[in-house]
Amino acid sequence: EQRRMCEEQTVSLVDVLEEDEELEEEASAVLAGSDSDHCSYPQGYVKRQALYACNTCTPKGSEAAGICLACSYKCHEGHDLFELYTKRNFRCDCGNGKFSELQCKLHPDKDEVNSLNKYSQNFFGVYCTCGRPYPDPEDQVEDEMIQCVVCEDWLHGRHLGCVVPDCVELQEMICESCMKTHSFLWTYASHLAGKASCYLTVLTWHKHTVIHMLCTSCVSMFPSCKRSREEVEPRCRLKELQVIGQKRVQSGAVFWPSPWRSKLCSCRMCQVLSGLSFLLDESDTVLAYENKGKNSEQRRQEDDPLMSALDNLNHVQQLEIIHGYNDMKTELKDFLQRFAAEGKVVTSDDIRQFFEQQSRKRRRVDAGEFYCT
Ligand SMILES: [Zn+2]
Ligand SMILES: [Zn+2]
Ligand SMILES: [Zn+2]
Ligand SMILES: [Zn+2]
Ligand SMILES: [Zn+2]
Ligand SMILES: [Zn+2]
Repeated sequence: EQRRMCEEQTVSLVDVLEEDEELEEEASAVLAGSDSDHCSYPQGYVKRQALYACNTCTPKGSEAAGICLACSYKCHEGHDLFELYTKRNFRCDCGNGKFSELQCKLHPDKDEVNSLNKYSQNFFGVYCTCGRPYPDPEDQVEDEMIQCVVCEDWLHGRHLGCVVPDCVELQEMICESCMKTHSFLWTYASHLAGKASCYLTVLTWHKHTVIHMLCTSCVSMFPSCKRSREEVEPRCRLKELQVIGQKRVQSGAVFWPSPWRSKLCSCRMCQVLSGLSFLLDESDTVLAYENKGKNSEQRRQEDDPLMSALDNLNHVQQLEIIHGYNDMKTELKDFLQRFAAEGKVVTSDDIRQFFEQQSRKRRRVDAGEFYCT
């Protein structure tokens, strides 16, 4: 029994090493697009940012409040925080009128309220139409949570009222309740969201040319696409679709193929009526935010003295350094797996010994002893 236990322990250590890179990438995608040192309040309503709610400062029963990434670190250290992933058009509340005692350490000079902020049940740590926490200690079913691009709540896959499509191109989901609130979306849904047989297959291998590759039956759905650009009178694409009058069952959430935003009508009437003009903005998507984060992470690495030192080495020298790092990682894994095989528990002393051996080995290499072989 004891043997099994330490196997599990050591194996999980090895797993950690492997998962490490993946986790890092995921975390940087969410966090790198936001500033971890400065409160975002002076930027006003930020288009999209990582956001938190504090269960210690504003628990259920008080007024909902959201705080920026930097404030979650600096002003709410050790507090019970809900991670809200990202939300659009939000201004940091940290220390404003919604907080009875807490003072913001980064930007204390705030208005009492941010009247344009939108709050939801998420700010008290509950999600979905079932109103449950995440992770949910009482829920044994494994299920993914998917964020609605309109209300930005997170919903269980099994509570969407539709089959979750197994297709990477159907990235954006609008929940049933938002579809019902903004019923004009059903018209788009019947033309855009159910066309898996024609352009969706094309999409997966050639994302960027899809607009020019609509199958003939799709083109007939979009008379305006065929018209020349010189046409003076702007047409309402939504009206054109309504005239065609294609029907679909109006229930359940809807998943949209990735270029769907560019197909929405942007005429003045549509923008005024819908109140969802953020949908016309391709840079509103979580994907665009994550890409921004990845790019800025790349820039930071370019500013890193270690990275620029690497740049100044020739190709062979670079490879040697990278190999050195990978060798060390492999050896650590071997080392841990030996413990697993022998059924021994790894102690912190063992780990220290490993790194001491590593640095002894490196010193010997530096001294030239290993170069003769
Ligand atoms: Zn803040
Ligand atoms: Zn707090
Ligand atoms: Zn703060
Ligand atoms: Zn649910
Ligand atoms: Zn929704
Ligand atoms: Zn229109």
